[in-house]
Amino acid sequence: MEDSIERVDCLIIGSGPAGYTAAIYAARADMKPVLYEGMQPGGQLTITTEVENYPGYPEGVMGPKMMDDFKTQAERVGASVRFGTITKAKLTKGRPFEITIDETKIIHAETVIIATGASAKWLGIPSEQKLNGGGVSACAVCDGFFYRGQDVAIVGAGDTACEEASYLAKICNKVYMIVRRDQFRASKALEHRVRSMSNIEIIFNTETDEVLGDTVVEGVRVRNVITNEKREIGIKGFFVAIGHNPNTDIFKDQIDLDKHGYIKTIPGTSLTNIEGVFASGDVQDKVYRQAVTAAGSGCMAALDAERFLAAQQSGERVQS
Ligand code: NDP
Repeated sequence: MEDSIERVDCLIIGSGPAGYTAAIYAARADMKPVLYEGMQPGGQLTITTEVENYPGYPEGVMGPKMMDDFKTQAERVGASVRFGTITKAKLTKGRPFEITIDETKIIHAETVIIATGASAKWLGIPSEQKLNGGGVSACAVCDGFFYRGQDVAIVGAGDTACEEASYLAKICNKVYMIVRRDQFRASKALEHRVRSMSNIEIIFNTETDEVLGDTVVEGVRVRNVITNEKREIGIKGFFVAIGHNPNTDIFKDQIDLDKHGYIKTIPGTSLTNIEGVFASGDVQDKVYRQAVTAAGSGCMAALDAERFLAAQQSGERVQS
């Protein structure tokens, strides 16, 4: 091992809104937090264009700039923000938790805040990647407003797709919902909501062939999986809502996860099943998934960690 073991009170894993907010609160509580940015410093917002729904930015802000602001603020109040990825986490043997960074450095942490986020699933077609930021998006609540009064399409038939389709239907002219099977996966209530909206056209048994356009989305070519018939639809926005992958691989078999791989927290808190390990942001939230809710839950995690440490320390003093 490259370095001797470093001991920290609070280790934060992840550098999206949840991780940085946890760092700001933990630093101000004198916990001297160390934050590792992970493989995608700044998280999902660094692959977004304009953010208009984060309070405090009345003119809107570009996603990467917003995450730079979060980082600057965390560092200004004393958080140690470091480039590096957690490659191993030993969480089950109790405190201090042993965390390995980039296979070389070892940290012993009294508390760990997991804020590793979730990554949107994509269809994997070249045009989707090419037009990402030019009309292709994985978040209707973030980007739907840019297409108000226009025609858009959304892929997926789960709860997320239904919620996002009905959100889009309220602001857009028409929403084409592209569903690969002949049925929904969503709950009946959400399916009914979608079916009852007159400007949502559900296209069953259909897959996306290509998103059309050079620099911005101009349409989508879809293919009926039964007849193989292809059809082009003119749209300005193309939304992918086929699920997310929570970034929990290194924690599985150690911490309680739900059936989709999200970390389970005690409702209304950031507490996990492991004392001293807290979770915040999209890694434990498959419903809201917003920068502002992630930031809020990062604050909760730092406060929970601070209280946990304080209780441990007063308990230790009583025992000694
Ligand atoms: P789901 O995995 O539930 O649904 C994914 C949808 O995308 C399915 O309809 C699936 O089709 C479709 N899909 C997957 N891959 C492709 C592909 N390559 N091409 C086309 N379509 C594809 O994900 P969600 O994000 O909707 O939900 C995740 C979890 O979060 C669920 O448990 C859900 O209940 C929960 N949730 C709850 C909410 C609420 O309670 N308000 C809101 C949002 C989510 P197919 O059905 O054919 O597999």
